[in-house]
Amino acid sequence: MSKGQLYIFSGPSGSGKDTVLKQLLSGREDVKLSISSITRPMRVGEVEGEKYNFISREKFEQMLKNDELLEHNVYVGNYYGTPKKPVEQWCEQGYDVILEIDVNGALKVMEKRPDAISVFIMPPSMSVLHQRLSGRGTEDEETVKSRLKIAVEEISKAVNYDYIIVNDTVEQAVKDFDAIIRANALLKDKMENLIYEVEQDAESFNW
Ligand code: 5GP
Repeated sequence: MSKGQLYIFSGPSGSGKDTVLKQLLSGREDVKLSISSITRPMRVGEVEGEKYNFISREKFEQMLKNDELLEHNVYVGNYYGTPKKPVEQWCEQGYDVILEIDVNGALKVMEKRPDAISVFIMPPSMSVLHQRLSGRGTEDEETVKSRLKIAVEEISKAVNYDYIIVNDTVEQAVKDFDAIIRANALLKDKMENLIYEVEQDAESFNW
């Protein structure tokens, strides 16, 4: 069995990343989503352990000290980080793993793990992004503004990613991400076992 593939998935807050991921992962066992440890307060509707582990700053700083994180970043005043261990274990077990992380964290992972495949999701336009962020009603106007400013910076760094998908419709964005995963699974390196098995099978033939 070959190792699972590591994917980095980023896009500005409000780009629809979560919706796309939810649909992409729904009912599928071969791809796991990394659960980040974060210090931001829980939003209404969020569930502990589903996408995030909500922890204290003290606990986060302890994890940093113990070198338990693959990467971390401070985003609008809060820590966000990817615990190393589950990611490594899943990849070893053959699962593909998606890190849904911001651009700064992504750039760090690209350096540490050049084998990772990176995907950036773009909103169709800045005004759509603004509408989505304000319409969500989970953040005050100041936070929305900070998130929009970060979005502009993040979009300027999209050129560092392997693939860019546009979230015009969720359906198409999910198909596009799925196509990237599928194409990667068919790379010859991932098919070496199959080639070997067929060769073994051929040897047993009485030609
Ligand atoms: P939100 O507060 O909207 O859930 O997330 C804010 C930003 O933090 C998003 O861009 C999200 O992708 C990013 N993020 C989530 N988890 C992590 C993580 O573990 N590391 C980093 N660097 N960014 C993360």
